[in-house]
Amino acid sequence: MKQTVIADAESVRAMNRSRVLQHLFRNGPTPRYKIAENINLTQASVSRIIAECMDAGLIVQDSEASHMAETNKVGRPPVPIFLNPNMYGVVAVHIGATWLDVGLVNLQGNVICHLREQRKEETPEYVIQQMQHAIDVLRQKDDRTMLAISITLNAQVDCRNGQIIGHNVFNWNHVPLAEMVQNTFHVRTIIDTNVYAMALAEYVRAPVTSIQTDSSLMLVNVGTTVGMGMVVNQSIVRGKTGLSGFLEHTPWQADGPLCECGKKGCITSLLSDRALLATARELRPDKPPFKIEDLVQLATDDEVLKKLLRDRAVAVGQLLATLVSVHDPSRLILTGSSVMGPEEFMWVHESYTRSLGKHAADYVELETSSYDVPFPLPFVASGVLGLQTVFSPQLSLLPIEQTDVTQLSHSVALPY
Ligand SMILES: [Zn+2]
Repeated sequence: MKQTVIADAESVRAMNRSRVLQHLFRNGPTPRYKIAENINLTQASVSRIIAECMDAGLIVQDSEASHMAETNKVGRPPVPIFLNPNMYGVVAVHIGATWLDVGLVNLQGNVICHLREQRKEETPEYVIQQMQHAIDVLRQKDDRTMLAISITLNAQVDCRNGQIIGHNVFNWNHVPLAEMVQNTFHVRTIIDTNVYAMALAEYVRAPVTSIQTDSSLMLVNVGTTVGMGMVVNQSIVRGKTGLSGFLEHTPWQADGPLCECGKKGCITSLLSDRALLATARELRPDKPPFKIEDLVQLATDDEVLKKLLRDRAVAVGQLLATLVSVHDPSRLILTGSSVMGPEEFMWVHESYTRSLGKHAADYVELETSSYDVPFPLPFVASGVLGLQTVFSPQLSLLPIEQTDVTQLSHSVALPY
């Protein structure tokens, strides 16, 4: 009986700690009383949680501000506290179509270092080996404690056990990737579908606070393939087997081009960067673009290629209008480098509004990503995904046996 009471008290404490950490991640430096107000806990509980997190080095306070508060007792200003940017972090990995992004991200979500390498082989063993090499290189620049490794990729994932199930460009079938990575690095590993992580990253940054309806965010990414991620009331919509939002082989145009899957006019065969590049190479065999950036560049003084980009943007606008009519989300975000040029985004936006017609005002305005950073979004989202697990009630703080008062009295671990 007693054990149950202790377990419950601990889980409530872990849950409250998670709420404090999440609040600091979303809002940045905040005084204690404000956190208590915002998450509806007593100031005493919040102060206790913060003291424990400071003992573990997770949270710090501005030493200048706290000195001022100490010396100026009358009407002393509240001291903001914030997530320690220097002691812990996560390794963020994005396994792209032909490349690997690896980087270190601090508790505030800032990328400390990043590198991109082309993949030479596609086996999971090779990818892990390449990841290991990249992490070794990055760790020479920064040797903070890494609490988790998070990986995003365009694949159907069983997120309960981090297994890659099917539906992916790597031809990995039932690959226990999380377990393989954990066995290599001995660090908690989290794996998710890239568009899901991207939607989550946008959601946690600016949560939708609508009282009467679903707080939902829809993100559509147009890249090597076309995918959609949705977060509703804090949870990722995954579907029955983790295939929700896999738009690739959804029929879109009955008389469209033949797709690799054998059907005609699938979304990916019409709207993806790959489809666009294939058409552009047929149109310009003398100067074939191999990367989407090259195509966008060539289109600046080539009307035929420009029309190709515009037609695709118009079709993306129509697709967004259809998806929005089905789900009626509270926010809609479009990502993907080739639809994000100012001109391209304008074409998509016009087509989206036109397709919704006289009902356009009833639906949500189209947005771009809120992450204005010089790193690929699926990689940045991978970091946020890892941090969401770090800030969850799963994080445990353990007292350290030591006598040196200058040392931290608690250690932090994320069990797996
Ligand atoms: Zn197809």
